[in-house]
Parts: sequence; structure tokens; C-alpha cells
Amino acid sequence: MHTWIEINGENLRHNVRVFAGIVGKERLAPVLKSNAYGHGLRETWEALKSENPGWIAVNYVSEGKDLRSFGFTGRILVVGPFLTDEMAEAARHKLELFVGHSEGISAWLASKTKPELHIEFDTGMSRQGFHPEDAFSLAEKLLADKKLIRGVCMHFANVEDVTEHEYARVQLNRFDVAVKAFTGRGFDVITHSASSASTLILDESRFDLARVGISIYGFWPSQATKISYKQLHGDVIDLKPVLSWRAKITSLNDVAQGRYVGYGCTFKARHAMRVAVVPVGYFEGYPRIASGTQAYVLIHGERCPVVGRVCMNMMMVDVTDISAKTAVGAVVTLIGRDGQEYVSASDVASWSETIHYELVTRLNPAIERRLT
Ligand SMILES: *Cc1c(COP(=O)(O)O)cnc(C)c1O
Repeated sequence: MHTWIEINGENLRHNVRVFAGIVGKERLAPVLKSNAYGHGLRETWEALKSENPGWIAVNYVSEGKDLRSFGFTGRILVVGPFLTDEMAEAARHKLELFVGHSEGISAWLASKTKPELHIEFDTGMSRQGFHPEDAFSLAEKLLADKKLIRGVCMHFANVEDVTEHEYARVQLNRFDVAVKAFTGRGFDVITHSASSASTLILDESRFDLARVGISIYGFWPSQATKISYKQLHGDVIDLKPVLSWRAKITSLNDVAQGRYVGYGCTFKARHAMRVAVVPVGYFEGYPRIASGTQAYVLIHGERCPVVGRVCMNMMMVDVTDISAKTAVGAVVTLIGRDGQEYVSASDVASWSETIHYELVTRLNPAIERRLT
């Protein structure tokens, strides 16, 4: 392929160490769901393994199995929903499952081979989880299988988007009820609630485990999180971006004044231009909605605007200003650094009316990931 993604292993390990420093190494669960936030599950594991993580969190049972096949022997937390017929496999691979609805519990109770569970409580997001008021009867129901219940957990709804965290505190108060229902009946459970943002800015959310996703890849969860962190600590920690996305120019066109570029003839050349074709489109993960915005890529360390509509496998960029030095085969940076210039995944996301989480997780898994 004429496009590839570079994964900086050293930066990934740096970020992991930053979080290990905050919560303690044994209480950190890097989250590698969604193809490790688009970074590549295998490559991310390869980069991470020298840190000897005690835990890794994923979304699917299948991702947990993949990690086992790569040789990971630590604890694996599956935070997404599971199918009834995946239970035996989960147990065989020693995967620990989040469960948050009564159908899941019934199927589990009826199952011959039972994987270990973390009971999830819905404390204010209305997504997955039991209501804390039901914790007591649930604990009763699970008493006979006490040893297989390893954790009680929740997820925050509103830490990333705000700098005041009263809603998170409401959630924590509800969580407390659920935790006590289990510990009060002698369950030997760990408790966990934190993701990246809450780990960074809500000390009381950390408990026994922090499930850190976006920030081990070097991103602040949001601008509001960064501001909150700065208010709390006076300074910000150094998170280093891990992913760069590059391609090579596949062809160059001279476009006369008055000619159009791309589908729909949305772009008309006001003057004679030189336009490069970059072999990346929405199939590869560059959003079509970025067409007609401030979107640019970097070539020879210069910003080159995206012109016309982003196509399925290609886009056109204006290289008029650098036409003397560029040629077919020149390296194009879609995300990452080139000389003095830098394009972040958040920049591309902002041109595309989305967030960096969505942008990186939708990078086509078929694109080669090169671990550096
Ligand atoms: C994705 C996810 C996380 C990680 O969230 P980040 O904001 O990426 O750190 C943690 N816990 C659960 C349950 C998740 O689904």
C-alpha cells in the first residue's frame, strides 16, 4: 500500500509509565479495544509487552483471545457485551467479563463453565449496568459463586466534557451503595471506575484499578480535562503522541485556471495550480466530511490544503507553493510531525465534526502499522 501508520513504541511506553506513576503499576489496565484505538492490537501489544502489564482491557471476547494468542498471560478484562455461547471460551482463556444485565447473569448461572465476572453498575449513564438499588438482591443471588466474582465496577458519563465534576460525584455516591452490598456480604472484590479523564482529574475515582485508554496513546481525553488537570496541579503531564499516518504522492496534475477538482466540481481553480493525488480516502479512514474545510496535510514540512471532495481511496491536495520541490513518491503526513509542522488526530477530528477517539478507531485496520 501507498499508505501506512507508524507506531512509536517508546512514546507508548512513556505514556504507560506516566499512568503507572499515577496509580501504581499493578493497578493500571491499558485499554486495547477497537484495534488498540486504531493503533493495531498486535503492534500495540508488541510495544507494550516489555512493560509487563498486569492487566489489559478489551471490548470483545475475541480481542481477549487474540491477546492470549500473542502470549499475554496477565489478567484480561472484557468490558463490552458478551454472547451466551462465548462463556466457555472466555473461561478457557481466563477472560474476566463485565456483566451488567440480568439476562447475562441468568445465562452465567446456567452455564457449566463460568468465567470470572466483574459486576457493572449503572450509576448515571443508562448504558450497561445494574441499578445500585438492586445490588443487595444480586449479591444474595451470587453468594454461592462468590469466588468467581472478582470486581464491582462502573463507568462515568460526564468527566471529559466538563471542568466541574458534581455529576461524577453523584455517580460515585450511587456506586458506593453497590460496592457495600457486595463487600458487606463478604465478597472479595476489587472496585474500579476510572478511565483516562477520571484517572487524571478525580483522585477519588481511582480505587483498585484504572482502565486507561485514549491517554496511553498520548491524547488528552478532551480540552476540558487538560484545563481541569492544570487547575488541580498547576502544570500538565507530558503525554506523547504514538501514531503518525503517512502516504506517498501517487500522481501530480497541472490544473489550469477555471478547471474543477474532484467529485461534484465543488472546487474551482482560481489560478493555475499544481495538485497532488494522495492515495487516502474515506475507506482508509480520512473522513469525507473534512472536504471543503480547513483540512490540510504536510508535505516537505509545509501545509498543503485538501482541495475538492475526499474520495473513497484518494484525495487531492494543493501543492502549488511547493511544486518546485515535490514529486511523485514524496511523503505526505496526514497525522503527525513533518519538520516544524504538526497535524494532530484532534485537528483532523475537528475538521470532521468528530472527536479524536472516533478518528483513530476508524483508521482502516488493513493499513500496515509499522512499529518503530
Ligand atoms: C473505553 C473504556 C474505557 C477507556 O476510556 P478512555 O476515555 O479511552 O480512557 C474505560 N472503561 C470502559 C468501560 C470503557 O468502555
